[in-house]
Amino acid sequence: MSKQKHIVILGAGYGGLLSALSARERLTAEEAKITVVNKFDSHQIITELHRLAAGNVSEKAVALPLSKLFKGKAIDVKIGAVESIDPDNRKVALEDGTSYGYDVLVLALGSETNFFGIPGLKENSFTLKSAAEANRIFAHVKERLRAYRVSKNKADVTFVIGGGGLTGTELVGELADELPGYCREAGVDFEDVSLYLVEAMPTILPMFSPELIQRAVTSLENRGVKFLTSLPITEVNGSVVTLKDGRTIETNTLVWTGGVQGHTLVANCGIEVNRGRASVNEYLQSVSHPDVFLAGDCAVVFGPEGRPYPPTAQLAWQMGELVGANIAASFRGTSMRPFAPVFSGTLASLGRKDGIGAVGENGIELKGAPASLMKKASNARYLSHIDGLFALAY
Ligand code: NAD
Repeated sequence: MSKQKHIVILGAGYGGLLSALSARERLTAEEAKITVVNKFDSHQIITELHRLAAGNVSEKAVALPLSKLFKGKAIDVKIGAVESIDPDNRKVALEDGTSYGYDVLVLALGSETNFFGIPGLKENSFTLKSAAEANRIFAHVKERLRAYRVSKNKADVTFVIGGGGLTGTELVGELADELPGYCREAGVDFEDVSLYLVEAMPTILPMFSPELIQRAVTSLENRGVKFLTSLPITEVNGSVVTLKDGRTIETNTLVWTGGVQGHTLVANCGIEVNRGRASVNEYLQSVSHPDVFLAGDCAVVFGPEGRPYPPTAQLAWQMGELVGANIAASFRGTSMRPFAPVFSGTLASLGRKDGIGAVGENGIELKGAPASLMKKASNARYLSHIDGLFALAY
């Protein structure tokens, strides 16, 4: 290699962070300049945001400063929002007017919330996609409880989570654990609180066995969660949430966790996409622009049965590692490796002490403390892997 190449990485979530670290491990600063662009100054552990939203962990535990993670690694960080991506001219522009040319671009911008065009939903709901949004939910919940003491308005103590996937169920579990304490603090009777999980399909968490799903439902019901299943939210008008059967719930707190979609910037930048997510070859290069690599939720990867893998943190992490290695290989003219994901299973926390999971190749089922501990261990493993532990100050 003669001239120094420039790798620009958009996004510092699981895919972007690991792409940067993995590329830097293999390429010297003389060989490659690496610039990571991210809209926040931290790498956010989004699989733990439900705990922050319920006030169960500190922000420091889920938002690791990029300056510390990249310290001494010759990786430039630019905090800013991407405005446009022009893969034909190899140019990226940020909202603040900065622009970058590149030899190789990594798109790792993650996913966006999908509101499915439901009237009033976007305008009247919270989402849980960043530490800032989690903080907002937490502050709002506490404020509504305080307000209720005076208002006695039932909407102030009615909390609705829309969507019973992993995000919604983990959040409702955390809130079920914490709300009784916050009610005591605010001088509110917990009996007055209604905590709903609304799900369009007949069941929450369809990726688990019926037995584990029942276990989750029972555990959450015992802590006061009310399930409304087979009932999509069809409209939100101010504080009134309408369900498919026509019934309404009045709430001042609706958190929407009903689904994700590919990133708009990636979907519209001119690279080949499949239903809004970038199409990639086996080496995780864009099929239309081989100098663009993809890591994480903004790409779609198909399994051997032809079905797309769900966009998960473990997949994004593994994609990022391979992208860094394949970029180094492409610079050196050596062989790139095909993506061969390893699935360690799925774990769902159901509050501080409970959880369910199906782990390992055979999907061994876990419930209760073992699942909860395994989930914590999997987070700790990730943090130690990215060398993040030193950046934490609990
Ligand atoms: P999701 O798409 O997995 O779940 C959304 C849920 O909302 C679905 O059950 C859907 O039926 C429901 N829904 C859709 N429209 C609705 C409506 N109008 N009214 C009521 N319910 C409606 O979304 P997610 O939970 O945010 O997860 C996104 C991705 O992230 C998934 O691939 C998931 O596996 C991953 N994830 C993983 C973890 C973990 O491993 N612990 C945690 C969070 C997210």
